[in-house]
Amino acid sequence: MWHAYARGVDITGANARPEGGRDCHACGGTSGSPLISVRNLTRTYQMGDVQVRALRGVSLDVMSGDFISLTGPSGSGKSTFMNLLGCLDHPTSGVYLLNGRDVAHFSREQLARVRNQEIGFVFQGFHLLPRTSALENVELPLLYAAGVSGRERRARAAAALESVGLGTLLRHHPNQLSGGQQQRVAIARALVNNPILLLADEPTGNLDSRTSIEVIEIFQHLNTERGITILLVTHEPDIAEYARRLVSFRDGRVCVDRPIVNQRSAHSDLAVMPVEVEPELAAV
Ligand code: ADP
Repeated sequence: MWHAYARGVDITGANARPEGGRDCHACGGTSGSPLISVRNLTRTYQMGDVQVRALRGVSLDVMSGDFISLTGPSGSGKSTFMNLLGCLDHPTSGVYLLNGRDVAHFSREQLARVRNQEIGFVFQGFHLLPRTSALENVELPLLYAAGVSGRERRARAAAALESVGLGTLLRHHPNQLSGGQQQRVAIARALVNNPILLLADEPTGNLDSRTSIEVIEIFQHLNTERGITILLVTHEPDIAEYARRLVSFRDGRVCVDRPIVNQRSAHSDLAVMPVEVEPELAAV
C-alpha cells in the first residue's frame, strides 16, 4: 500500500492562498469568503438554429477547503459547469467570482494565467503525452510559468511526483505505468503549480475499485493536509461519499446541495480492502 505522501509540502514554495480563506484545513471545515461564487450562471450553446441551454441559472458558493462531489445524469451540465469554473469557457450570462475576482469578464490572457497558476485539472483519460517521461509530463505546466529555470522545473516536478508516491518512476513513460500510476502522474502535473483549486472530471472512471480509492486517498490528503479546494465529478455514488459535500445537477440546475454527514475515509477503506497484484505490473 502507498502512503508516501509529502505531508504539508509546498511544492513550489510560492503558494498563493485565497484571501479570506484558511491556509490549511487539517482540522476540517471551511471558513472565510467563498473561493468560488457563481450567481445565475448560464451557458447556451448555439447548434445551427437550435439553442442548447446547458446551464440554466446555477448559483453556488464554494468555500476554500471544500471538497465537493458533483453528480447528476449525463447531459445535466456538469462538464459545462467545470469548464466555466476552470476558465476554459465563458458563461452566456451570470456572475463568476474566483477568489473575489470577476473572471467571467477576464481576457483570454488573464484566463490563461488563472488556469495555469491557480487551477489544476485532472481528467478521466489522464491526457499524458505518450512518448514523454513522467517527469517531463509534470514539468509541462511550468514551461508556461515565467522565470522558472530548467533545474527548478525538474526539482518541482520531481517533488510533485514524490508527493503522489511516484518518486522512483520519474523516467517511466505512460505505457510503462498502470492506469492508477498514470492518474497519479496527471495529479502531480495538476499540482506542480501549487493550485488553490483542483477540478477533477471522472478521475476514477477508468480505474478498478481499489485503484479508484487510492486516487481518492490522494484527493482527501490534498484537501485535508494542504487545504486544496476540490470539485470532483463522479457518476459513482460510492466515490461521491468521500467528499465533504454533494452537489447534484439536473437539467442545467443545482437540484441537491448538502453536506455529506458521514464522509468516508479512503485511508480506512483501503486498510480493509484486499490487494490484488497484477502480474504484468509486478515487475515495473
Ligand atoms: P454532463 O457533463 O452532465 O454530461 P454537459 O455539460 O456535457 O453535461 O452537457 C450539457 C448539455 O449541453 C447537453 O445537452 C450537451 O449535449 C450540451 N453540450 C455540451 N457541450 C456542448 C457543445 N460544445 N456544443 C453543443 N452542445 C453542447
